[in-house]
Amino acid sequence: MSKIQMITPLVEMDGDEMTRILWKMIKEHLIIPYVDLKTEYYDLGLEYRNETNDQVTVDSAEATKKYGVAVKCATITPNAARMTEYNLKEMWKSPNGTIRAALDGTVFRAPIIVKGIEPCVKNWEKPITLARHAYGDVYKNTEIKVPSAGKAELVFTAEDGTKTVETIHTFNGPGILQGIHNTDKSITSFAKACFNYALDTKQDLWFSTKDTISKKYDHNFKDIFQKIYEEEFKEKFEAAGIEYFYTLIDDAVARVMKAKGGFIWACKNYDGDVMSDMVSSAFGSLAMMTSVLVSPSGVYEYEAAHGTVQRHYYKHLKGEETSTNSIATIFAWTGALRKRGELDNIPELCAFADKLERASLKTIEDGKMTKDLALITSLENVTVLNSEDFIKEIAKTYETM
Ligand code: NAP
Ligand code: MG
Repeated sequence: MSKIQMITPLVEMDGDEMTRILWKMIKEHLIIPYVDLKTEYYDLGLEYRNETNDQVTVDSAEATKKYGVAVKCATITPNAARMTEYNLKEMWKSPNGTIRAALDGTVFRAPIIVKGIEPCVKNWEKPITLARHAYGDVYKNTEIKVPSAGKAELVFTAEDGTKTVETIHTFNGPGILQGIHNTDKSITSFAKACFNYALDTKQDLWFSTKDTISKKYDHNFKDIFQKIYEEEFKEKFEAAGIEYFYTLIDDAVARVMKAKGGFIWACKNYDGDVMSDMVSSAFGSLAMMTSVLVSPSGVYEYEAAHGTVQRHYYKHLKGEETSTNSIATIFAWTGALRKRGELDNIPELCAFADKLERASLKTIEDGKMTKDLALITSLENVTVLNSEDFIKEIAKTYETM
C-alpha cells in the first residue's frame, strides 16, 4: 500500500525523558508505516536547549507561526535539581511559556473518553474542554502585608498625569492587600481563541465569571466576550448550530456537574487553573488528557497535558520495564495530522488520524492497556502491557480495522 502524502510540513518539537522515548516509538510503529511524514524537526530536549541558549525553542515557535501546525513532546521545565542534573548554563524558562507568549495563545484541555474508564461524574458522557485564560489576574499580582492601621488606596495615573483614586479600605490594624490587572488586548485574544475553537470543534461555548460581585473587573470580561460574539461570531455560530452561553461561575459549576458534556468551558485564569485539575481528575487520568494551544490568528500546537513522566524514565534507565501510557501523545500527533489534512485538503490524512485514534481506543476497550489504566478500569481480565508492547498492540489493532 502506498503511503499518504503530505504537502506542508508539521513543526515537530521533540522533548525529554520518557515521553521522548515514546515519541520515537509512536513515529516508528504508528505513523511512518502509513504516512510519508514531512516534518520540520526541532529538538526541544533540555540538552539541546542548553546548547543553543534556548534559541531552538524560539525558532520552533517562529516555525509554528510560519507553517500553522505543530506537535510537541513533553519537555522539562528546569528547576534547581535539573541545573545540576543537566549541568545547565542557566535556568531556562518553560518552553510552553515561551511558545504560549510567542503565539499569544489560549490552551484548551480535553479528556479522551474510552469505554472502561468511567468518569467519577456518572452523567458525563462527552468530553468537557477547559479553556483557561493564561494571562494576568492573581498570577501577576502585587501584594502588601499591611503592618498596622492606615488607609489603602487604588491609584491610576494616566500618561497626562490625571489621577483616579479609590479607597480600598481603612485599616484599624494589620491585614493584607492585593493589586491585580488584566488588559483588553489579552481578554480579546482569549475571547477570539475561544470562539474560533468552538466553531472549529462544533461545540457550545460557556463562559463564566463573578460579574455580580466584580462589577467592573469581571464585568469587563463579560462585556468583551459579548461584543466580540455579536460583532464577529453570532452568525457563524447560528450557521454551525452551536451556542454561546454566559453565566455566573457559581451557576456554571452547578450546571457542569449535571451536564452530559460535549462543550467548551472558558474560564478566567484562576478558575481555569483550579477547574481544569478538577475536571481532568474526575475524567480519570492525566495520561488521557490532550492539550492544544490555539492562537487568535489560527495557529495550532498539539501536545499531551502530562509531563515527561520522570519516575518511569529513571526506571527505564536502570533497565527496568515501564508501562507508560502513550495515548495523549498519540492524540497530539493525530490532532496535528488531522489539522494539517484539513488545512491542506488531504482527506486521507484526516481519515488516517481518525482511524489511528479509533484503533488506540479499541485496544484499550479490548482489555489491553498500560498499568495506569489497568488500576482504574471497570473492565475485567485486562492485560497490562509495557510501554512498547502497548504501542505495537495499537498497530496490530489498526491493521485489523
Ligand atoms: P508528569 O510527567 O505528568 O508525571 C507525574 C506522574 O503522573 C507520573 O509519575 C505518573 O505516575 C503519572 N503519569 C503522568 N503521565 C503518565 C503517562 N503517560 N503514563 C502513565 N503515568 C503517567 O509530572 P512530573 O513528574 O511532575 O514532571 C516531570 C517533568 O515534566 C518535569 O520536569 C516538568 O517540568 C515536566 N512537565 C512538562 C509539561 C509539558 O511539557 N507540557 C507538563 C507538566 C510537567 P506514577 O509515577 O504514579 O506512575
Ligand atoms: Mg492547577
